[in-house]
Amino acid sequence: MKSKIALVSCKNYTPDHVYPAMHHALALLGGITNFIRPAAKVLVKPNLLMAIEPEKGVDTHPEIVRAVIRILKEIDCHVFVGDSPSVWDSQSSNLERVWERSGVKQVCQEEKVELVTFAKRRWRDKFPLTSWLDECEYFINLPKFKTHNLTILSAAIKNLFGLVCGSYKLQLHKDYFEREDFSKMLVDIYALAKPHLTIVDAIVAMEGDGPATAGRLRQTNLLLAGDDCVSLDSVLAIIMGLKPADIPYIKEATLRGLGISKIEDIEILGEKLEEVKSKPFLLPTASFSRKIPRPLLEIAKKLVRYYPVIQHNKCLFCLACLNTCPSKAIAIENKKISIDYAKCIACFCCQEVCPAAAIKTKKSILAKIIGL
Ligand code: SF4
Ligand code: SF4
Repeated sequence: MKSKIALVSCKNYTPDHVYPAMHHALALLGGITNFIRPAAKVLVKPNLLMAIEPEKGVDTHPEIVRAVIRILKEIDCHVFVGDSPSVWDSQSSNLERVWERSGVKQVCQEEKVELVTFAKRRWRDKFPLTSWLDECEYFINLPKFKTHNLTILSAAIKNLFGLVCGSYKLQLHKDYFEREDFSKMLVDIYALAKPHLTIVDAIVAMEGDGPATAGRLRQTNLLLAGDDCVSLDSVLAIIMGLKPADIPYIKEATLRGLGISKIEDIEILGEKLEEVKSKPFLLPTASFSRKIPRPLLEIAKKLVRYYPVIQHNKCLFCLACLNTCPSKAIAIENKKISIDYAKCIACFCCQEVCPAAAIKTKKSILAKIIGL
């Protein structure tokens, strides 16, 4: 059986563009009531990674949140918006900064819906997931389309990591620091908490060393919608210039039968995929899947190492990286941030929370020698 996704163009984040584009995407899929029952309680989860302005392109744009709220209110739903921002930042004062700077607090106030924190949890298998999944009858996933130094792509399935409450995310980074293991863990979460609907903010995407300030913005002018996160992420992988199987979590989810990644089996409604593709995305430094022949890839993975380096001239000394590091590899030495590479597990959590793009990804000498 084929899966179905909508792919529509949307040129900018003004409400006059976002709302009609989202409405159009959902209409192509049979309308919002094909996914959500009228008058239901609905949890909406954007990707709110850090306290940063919408134009920086790190968080899901607040106008995407507004459009989905309006569409849900048209069918009398009771809407709750929430996320568990970043891995380091579960204190309420820090959360408040994320709500405010991301613009989501203002949208929720204007649209008169409740912004909720993921403080209460219920263990599902090995994960403490937000109890708002139990409080609400439906769950809508609102990821942003970005590259990611650990998972290569951050979109529909990766956004579900934010369902894990507070600092337990740090423990998971420590337990699953290899790309393949982390990807399998993400698929475990997807299997436990499949969204009823996912709408991807791909109007301004991110390439390079995403998913935060070290990445580069890229205008892609798209919105995607559907209920199969594997299909949505597969289409995004192709837009990046990759194959779905190049993204380890897509490969794993496909193997487990959790969705469809074969492009011939995905019915794309709206824009034509070939017409929206442009030049391939700049990949994260720690990704080399496009650069070497596949048979050599497994050998290279074992030999090559990537690691974070602090650019002290850009550092704001905010200590977010130090508070984040799951391996306690970051300390202050001579009034500067310093990394103990004997402890570093190359999870790139530090880069993910750095507000100043002050953490670069460096390649090991071997990676440079073999041209990765
Ligand atoms: S220094 Fe950065 S990459 Fe290394 S373990 Fe700590 S957070 Fe992860
Ligand atoms: S490297 Fe980035 S996160 Fe770490 S202290 Fe400096 S500005 Fe903050």
